[in-house]
Amino acid sequence: MFPQITEISVFCDLSHLQNLLNFLYKKCIFGLLKFMSVYDKYEVVIGLECHIQLLTKTKMYSSDVAEYGGLPNTHVSVVTLGHPGTLPVVNERAIEFAVKLGIAVNANIREENQFARKNYFYADLPKGYQITQDKTPICTGGYILSKLKDGTEKKVALTRIHMEEDAGKSLHDIDAFDTLVDLNRAGTPLLEIVSEPDLRSGEEAYAYLTEVRKLVRYLEICDGNMEEGSLRCDANISVMLKGANEFGKKVEVKNMNSFRNVQRAIDFEIIRQIDLLEAGKSIAGETRSYDAVKDLTFSLRSKESANDYRYFPEPDLQPVFITQEYINKVKANLPTLPAQLFKTYTATYKLSEYDAHQIIELKEVAAYFNELVKLTANYKGAANWLMGPIKSYLNERALSFSDFKMKPARIAEIIALIDEGKISNSAASQRLFPELMEHPEKSAKEAAKELDLIQNSNSNELQGLVDAALAKFPEKIVEYKSGKVGLLGLFVGEVMKLSKGKADPKLLNQLVKETLEK
Ligand code: ADP
Ligand code: MG
Repeated sequence: MFPQITEISVFCDLSHLQNLLNFLYKKCIFGLLKFMSVYDKYEVVIGLECHIQLLTKTKMYSSDVAEYGGLPNTHVSVVTLGHPGTLPVVNERAIEFAVKLGIAVNANIREENQFARKNYFYADLPKGYQITQDKTPICTGGYILSKLKDGTEKKVALTRIHMEEDAGKSLHDIDAFDTLVDLNRAGTPLLEIVSEPDLRSGEEAYAYLTEVRKLVRYLEICDGNMEEGSLRCDANISVMLKGANEFGKKVEVKNMNSFRNVQRAIDFEIIRQIDLLEAGKSIAGETRSYDAVKDLTFSLRSKESANDYRYFPEPDLQPVFITQEYINKVKANLPTLPAQLFKTYTATYKLSEYDAHQIIELKEVAAYFNELVKLTANYKGAANWLMGPIKSYLNERALSFSDFKMKPARIAEIIALIDEGKISNSAASQRLFPELMEHPEKSAKEAAKELDLIQNSNSNELQGLVDAALAKFPEKIVEYKSGKVGLLGLFVGEVMKLSKGKADPKLLNQLVKETLEK
């Protein structure tokens, strides 16, 4: 019944396990090599279509409030519903926002802007058509520059940016039996940004989107919140053999609700398409959806069954004319944009590219830094404080930068205390900074004194401590003098201990060295 001892020992023989591991390892490596060589034969082509919801008070063609949330179907007038006899009116602020974005991406801005109707039937489209721009997008050309992980810069050309209105929202998961429709979003102003097929990987798409979001946030035309749907993106993906002179058949992927998921959907699609081609099959031109839970894309509809939108010029709207004078006015009121800040930070303030990018990432952080450097000439110190102690403090408490209320002047005071050798860096970040967060009314100097953090920089007093410390190590001093200079740390550490951590490290080092050399 029971296995005999010999059988057990065979079962436990490690060489079997080793063989198995070896086999699996070879299979993995072989698979990886095969994958890489196959993958390497192809070039990936990606173009993105982004929709950004504009931060206007009212809708694109009516005076309904354009606000996220609100009780369902409360921001819906007869104009939004397209009742007979009602007329749309173009939202001037939306035009201004489009021009702002156009200037920021170096696009050509069209003088005569017409609107067009895109017709289709859907429950969340009350008018039965969407007012958009067809042949006359407000912006053409321009580009977005982004930085990849390896530091290289990627330039993606833009095809067009056009104005349109959003549809309502179909809610499938609130009621067990029916789909509910909320028309509050119907008519919200959108800009659609269409890129040229210039992107070559999921990573590049991610970097591009990050840049788009940064830009629209700096311009304050969109909150860039992909999770809430105010920034949406469809990815067009195809693969072709390297060196081919024609792009492959493209597949459009929708329904990604984060930048990460855009990257994942693209990565999945690349492998799916290459696998199909390698198996001798062809790619179907279709629209697919991304399932974030399963991390895969699945077919929604084929291109053959695509709608015919029967575009025609919107008869209820006059064209909008944009003059050069108007463009100049908008340009004059543009905030300083990330690219300009980057130049200033690296050229004038001599920050590293990495530090500069970190600070520019969020407009509020950059604004804070701009105030801070008016109060200190230690630019690197200012950057370090923002990216170090302040960031950690906020992260640990799950706060965002807008919750950070300490005045730039306080940080400048702290930096000055450190630079003057009055307090150590670690005392400043670990004790003084938290104290000042609790007591914004205190000055940095007051708080440092109260906490007894002011370093001992009186050299007479320090000299006494140095002598006392050295007296403890007569043999070590001999060793030091015979060349074991690494012992310096021991002596310095001892004096620091005697000073209860308050000696100015720079002065201390110098004094110990001088004393030893006497
Ligand atoms: P459609 O007429 O299907 O909407 P467009 O020519 O308007 O196609 O392009 C839509 C998006 O698809 C653009 O961002 C464009 O750069 C991109 N695109 C076009 N052709 C390809 C392709 N072969 N592979 C990947 N992306 C593509
Ligand atoms: Mg198109």
